[in-house]
Amino acid sequence: MINTDVIIIGGGTTGCGIARDLALRGIPHYLIERGDFAAGATGSCHGLLHSGARYVVTDPQAAKECISENLILRRIAEKCVEPTGGLFVRLPGDSKRFRDRFLKCCEDVGIPTDVLSPSRAIDLVPELNPMIEEAIKVPDCAIDPFRLCMLNAISSRQAGGGFLIHHEVIDIIKEKGRCVGIKAKEKFTSQIKVVRGKIIINATGAWGDKVAALGGSHVPLTLSKGSLIISNHRLTNMVINRLRPPSDGDIIVPNEAVCLAGTTSISVKDPDNIKVESHEIDTIATEVDHMIPKFGSTRMIRAYCGVRPLFASGVEDTRAISRGFRIIDHNNGLFSIIGGKLSTYRLMAEKMVDIIMTRFDKKVPCTTAQIPLDGQDELTGYPLSKRLKDMDDIICECELVTRADVEGVMNRIGTKYIEDIQHRTRLGMGPCQGGFCTYRALGVMQEMGRISPEDSIRILKTFLEGRFKGIRPALWGDQLREEQLVESIYLGILSMSSK
Ligand SMILES: Cc1cc2nc3c(=O)[nH]c(=O)nc-3n(C[C@H](O)[C@H](O)[C@H](O)COP(=O)(O)OP(=O)(O)OC[C@H]3O[C@@H](n4cnc5c(N)ncnc54)[C@H](O)[C@@H]3O)c2cc1C
Repeated sequence: MINTDVIIIGGGTTGCGIARDLALRGIPHYLIERGDFAAGATGSCHGLLHSGARYVVTDPQAAKECISENLILRRIAEKCVEPTGGLFVRLPGDSKRFRDRFLKCCEDVGIPTDVLSPSRAIDLVPELNPMIEEAIKVPDCAIDPFRLCMLNAISSRQAGGGFLIHHEVIDIIKEKGRCVGIKAKEKFTSQIKVVRGKIIINATGAWGDKVAALGGSHVPLTLSKGSLIISNHRLTNMVINRLRPPSDGDIIVPNEAVCLAGTTSISVKDPDNIKVESHEIDTIATEVDHMIPKFGSTRMIRAYCGVRPLFASGVEDTRAISRGFRIIDHNNGLFSIIGGKLSTYRLMAEKMVDIIMTRFDKKVPCTTAQIPLDGQDELTGYPLSKRLKDMDDIICECELVTRADVEGVMNRIGTKYIEDIQHRTRLGMGPCQGGFCTYRALGVMQEMGRISPEDSIRILKTFLEGRFKGIRPALWGDQLREEQLVESIYLGILSMSSK
């Protein structure tokens, strides 16, 4: 049994941000996550560090939080953020009145803007639709959610914080009406671990109500699914938004060598039962094509979706719900923290930990806005030039991941999950989607004695099935040809069964 002061359930940005803040204020804690870090909405988001401009007309409070956190994260999380800048483009037929309100609201909230003529905008992003009427420049950025979670976790670990990843909380232990601990089941072995704590924080986003129910509490949630597509090329070096009220398919974000285009907003009931629908892909492709006409003829490598946890119950129009966040004290030792944005995770963590400090009667101020995240220099991955330096023994050609990178992750975290290596190195995230590198990485894991041959076949199948879920909605043209090749390697040469 493990004893600690604060138990955090959920390893998205909210949970990892809380762990780091607790660590910097000297509070012992343990974080429990059922997958790897960023397994929920965090890892399936758009990767946009909002300037706040998207919400400035509809939700000025959320916009204010975004611009202030945008400035902080660019400073403390430099290696996770690419300061691309963003353009809001106005196309023929888009409302000029909305544009005027947008500029006025940006001024009120303090978001700097620069109105550009079509030719100045096209100088910045040559693939833009030449028919645009104007563009407004704002300080949007691209952000890597996986790296952001892991760096927050590193800070926490350095201060003695504990983590159990691939452990699902299956029960909250109650004594005399108070929540005093959790039971967690390890995914691989089904082993049960017990962690006891004085305070439990439910930071499970879309799963917030399910987890609160384990402690006999309730969180009013509306779940909104959003889908995105990944293009094989970086079609823009800036974030491109459509200058109109938030709608489907109106943002494209550059991310390393690719672009993420989306999104949609569809009310769903169960966050564990979601998939990308083909009509969503059609809508996104059509809408993004209006801003960047080359998008439609560019190869797509996969699609994915995630669920936004919005604080409200039973609201039909999910875009009308505020993107602000709420902290709920269930008055039994359990707190839930719900809503918000990835862009505002640090602020959410600060407010949560402020409350915890009062419960422990301690007065240590928050310093997460001043101290840069630990571990930024050791990270593999971004920038690409760092990966180009060492090209020996390549395991993943698409993303330039070497044997040393794979062994490095194995030695650091001793995982049995190929996804953990993927999230820490980008293995399998390129055009072949793991077709050529997955079996090689599993070979390395076997050579290192971490998994048996039987385990490796089971892991390979589960991983390929997971990847296929995302590839399936983008199967046409070159991506279809590539997938047929991958299928013939696994089913033909390696004699795997499709059952
Ligand atoms: C499609 C989409 C696009 C988005 N784009 C952006 C964007 O570009 N910029 C931005 O700022 N925000 C964006 N957001 C919002 C942002 O992703 C979320 O607000 C944020 O990531 C929520 O983080 P979280 O940690 O609260 O929740 P999550 O990331 O969902 O984390 C909850 C975690 O709890 C874990 N969990 C659940 N149940 C259990 C259990 N029983 N035991 C243990 N662990 C459990 C899950 O595995 C998960 O990892 C987007 C959201 C979506 C859905």
